[in-house]
Amino acid sequence: MTATYKRILLKLSGEALMGEDSHGINHAIMKRIVAEVSEVNKLGVEIAIVVGGGNIFRGMTSTKDGIERVTADYMGMLATVMNALALQDAMKQGGLIPRIQSALRMEQVVEPYIRGRAMRYLKEGRVVIFAAGTGNPFFTTDTAAALRGMEMNVDIVLKATKVDGIYTSDPKINSEATRFQKITFNEAIAKNLQVMDATALTLCRDQKLPLNVFSIFKAGALKRVVMGEDEGTLVTV
Ligand code: UDP
Repeated sequence: MTATYKRILLKLSGEALMGEDSHGINHAIMKRIVAEVSEVNKLGVEIAIVVGGGNIFRGMTSTKDGIERVTADYMGMLATVMNALALQDAMKQGGLIPRIQSALRMEQVVEPYIRGRAMRYLKEGRVVIFAAGTGNPFFTTDTAAALRGMEMNVDIVLKATKVDGIYTSDPKINSEATRFQKITFNEAIAKNLQVMDATALTLCRDQKLPLNVFSIFKAGALKRVVMGEDEGTLVTV
């Protein structure tokens, strides 16, 4: 069985890590995610991951409490480092060899982002977890996923969500909503389908980097996406 995509960038939002909980990290969910990643790793697929932080701290919402936006965004980026550490731990327990690289320096805890080294880890079969987003306030980890995906020359960005693809409208609200098997970046942007933020979509579109939006909670879905099967929604130019 050969995979369609040899090198992938998986975006795991904070929401994915908290499962049905209201916040924080759900360790049972984390274990399931690690098992899905491990299956794909065994196929020889090179895996880079960008983790979000919304389950712990989100910059935008905290500005409502009076925290300055830039400060709140740094807090959000630090939240992604906590998630990365938890994910790294779960991966080690699951038999994978993970390495975290952070866009913000904190050498005692995680190594800094160094492109060449990250590429080497990928070639060695290690899973590289990118933490601290882009390292800049006013951005999101979706944008970090597009950016790191481009830098790592991945074949596709995979956005793991709770829903198994992009729908014509919210399937939780509208039972008539249908899943797009394929859609273009321009359609996704124009229809404001809340797939990923517009900056991330535009970056992927301009670099012709395909994106698949799929459910990480559907058993085997990650593997099916990597094998090029009809799973999730494929977004292309
Ligand atoms: N963040 C940031 N710059 C980045 C990435 C993230 O300032 O490049 C901050 C921002 O405040 C964001 C928080 O980190 O709200 C957590 O990231 P995100 O909301 O993207 O996490 P997710 O929704 O994927 O859990």
